[in-house]
Amino acid sequence: MFLRELKTPVSNVRGISDKRAAELAKIGIVSVAALLTRYPKDYEDRSETVPLRDYAKQRNVCTTVRVVDHASFLFRGERRPKIIIEDSTARAVIPCFFNGGYLAKRLVIGGEYRILGHFERNKYGELQSASIDFEPADAEPSKFGGILPVYYYSDAERNRLLRGAVKSALTLYAAPIEGELPAFIIERDGLLPKSRALHALHFPASMEELAAAKRTLIYEELFYLEVLVGKRRRGGAAKDGLKAVGGLSPLQKRLIERLPFALTAGQTAAVEAINADMAGAVPMARLLQGDVGSGKTLVAFMAALYAVDGGAQAALMAPTELLARQHAENAARLLEPLGLHVAFLTGNIKAAGRTRLLAALAAGEINIVLGTHALFSRDVVYKNLALAIIDEQHRFGVTQRQTILAKGERCGLLMMSATPIPRTLAMTLFGDMDVSVIRELPPGRKPITTHLASEENERKVYEFVRAELAAGRQAYFVYPLIEANEELDLKDAQSMFARLSGEIFPQFAGALIHSRIDEEEKRSIMERFRQNEVRFLVATSVVEVGVDVPNATCMVIEHAERFGLSALHQLRGRVGRGESASYCFLIYSRQDAPEKFRGMNAALVPDDERSKEGKRLMVMLRESDGFAIAEEDLKFRGPGQIIGTEQSGFMRLGIADPIRDIEALEAARRDAFAILDADFALAEERHRVIAAVLDRAPPFTG
Ligand code: ADP
Ligand code: MG
Repeated sequence: MFLRELKTPVSNVRGISDKRAAELAKIGIVSVAALLTRYPKDYEDRSETVPLRDYAKQRNVCTTVRVVDHASFLFRGERRPKIIIEDSTARAVIPCFFNGGYLAKRLVIGGEYRILGHFERNKYGELQSASIDFEPADAEPSKFGGILPVYYYSDAERNRLLRGAVKSALTLYAAPIEGELPAFIIERDGLLPKSRALHALHFPASMEELAAAKRTLIYEELFYLEVLVGKRRRGGAAKDGLKAVGGLSPLQKRLIERLPFALTAGQTAAVEAINADMAGAVPMARLLQGDVGSGKTLVAFMAALYAVDGGAQAALMAPTELLARQHAENAARLLEPLGLHVAFLTGNIKAAGRTRLLAALAAGEINIVLGTHALFSRDVVYKNLALAIIDEQHRFGVTQRQTILAKGERCGLLMMSATPIPRTLAMTLFGDMDVSVIRELPPGRKPITTHLASEENERKVYEFVRAELAAGRQAYFVYPLIEANEELDLKDAQSMFARLSGEIFPQFAGALIHSRIDEEEKRSIMERFRQNEVRFLVATSVVEVGVDVPNATCMVIEHAERFGLSALHQLRGRVGRGESASYCFLIYSRQDAPEKFRGMNAALVPDDERSKEGKRLMVMLRESDGFAIAEEDLKFRGPGQIIGTEQSGFMRLGIADPIRDIEALEAARRDAFAILDADFALAEERHRVIAAVLDRAPPFTG
């Protein structure tokens, strides 16, 4: 049986009580499969003794001690037990802050115990460890003498719970677990059989065995990922594409003639690649990457026109209603004059309007529809959908991708993203896609000047913005919260709107916009902002994606430390869209910065004195290129949290890390593709594996 099939509830496992099962459920573990795939974060080597005397040389002391005495100490006005221990090299204390009764009972005076603890000198100069793991020295070693898994860094209780449960489950279930990799790969690469790999990953006999176990499971995961990727690529082939028109299609040409500017080289290349895809036999799957402001929308419109010239429909989906509406307005402005029928569909369009719209879509009377994910709800039927465009694709998950494709027989997919995905990661997540990159911004854009300001200097920022407003330009102010929150000491959009419009810029008209304002209201606010009737906009990150108002030259982000670098980059991209010089102010609260730097110009603080947050924000000063920012972001966050994985559960991986394991990834890709391409006159065993691979969902997709 395969590991993923071990759906047995953990409560059935002998050695796991109902109470433990309930605790496991709380950390998301219900089945044996889930338990065994809760991989350790780290390991504690308890195979070697580290005496108390050497407490500073190693993170942990691992030694055998004798309990010398029980004493007590005062903690918050109450007496607590304190246990005094020693080994042959030094003496130390275990203060019992919370579970004193328990420890004092278990660690009897005169008794000998194997212990593991993290020791430090306390203010009285004693060696102390606030918590320890232990077992009697005369018992058969069960927690000591080996390498133990660490599942949580700071929660000893949960570690104990998981270790015990995993051990029971391994004993009962590991042996019959079948391997999922072809035997020839295991042999070729010196990998471990699955059950042994699992065992060794949780309770390795040596560091070498651990390394082999990791290699095995990482490879397996990547192999299945690439099988999936390769399968999609091969699955959709062998049908006719849209009628090939050669060069630009008639509608595309007419649009270009009407534009007041020429396409950039990157836009032109992307359009050519898309046209070739859409004329081809394999349905298009293309990722269009281009930094904020590079003009992806226009490329999307061009792609839609190709579909319409081919007699089909196109749909463009955006993650927020605000952005969808902006696209719809642009489409109406640019495409309706060409004779196209353009429609706008969101969840907010109800009743009669919706019914009419759906009927028109089903009848093929609408050529291009723009909207939110409502475009792909169950009751929406297309007559002939040839192209689905997903803007800001990192906001959507894999499942949505499938739903969309289900709407059109052989629907092409164009995904657009400004949140750059590092190349290596793009290859994994979109390995089944072609990628077009727009590298340049349209000509004439001025660079955006970015300033980092600490909260104490916010007045200076406001003064600067006032001068810009006075000169006829516009500004955004962005906050991490909509309204004041008792638990978080943060500025919020609502209160700041009151303050900015009442106290700071009383002479200028402002408006407040956030996700809870109703759509009609939002639309009218954005329209007034676009017309420069509203001079400054106070917002949350609703303005993060897509909003395009070239006269806005100032972006002020307060509590910038609260935003991810990619979000900051997106927000900054709202300015610098017109002729005038633009500015981005990142105001951050430096509560965690060393006292001596308070009030000082942030850029002058030496780098090694900066908090992690401060260092992160410095990236925004140094870099203007979205790709570079994404790479830096990755360093701060770790690839596990990269765009899309955390945010939308895009494609979560368990043990593999596509960046770190790039070589394994490439090998897995070669193997997976070779197997998919192989004719089926291969060895019996290979057949079995291929069959298993082909009908199963991989363990890491949501
Ligand atoms: P993004 O790639 O961030 O989605 P947009 O599509 O919103 O960028 O484009 C940003 C702005 O650039 C829009 O105002 C658009 O009209 C303008 N634009 C697009 N292509 C060009 C071009 N080739 N030359 C000049 N301006 C362009
Ligand atoms: Mg865009």
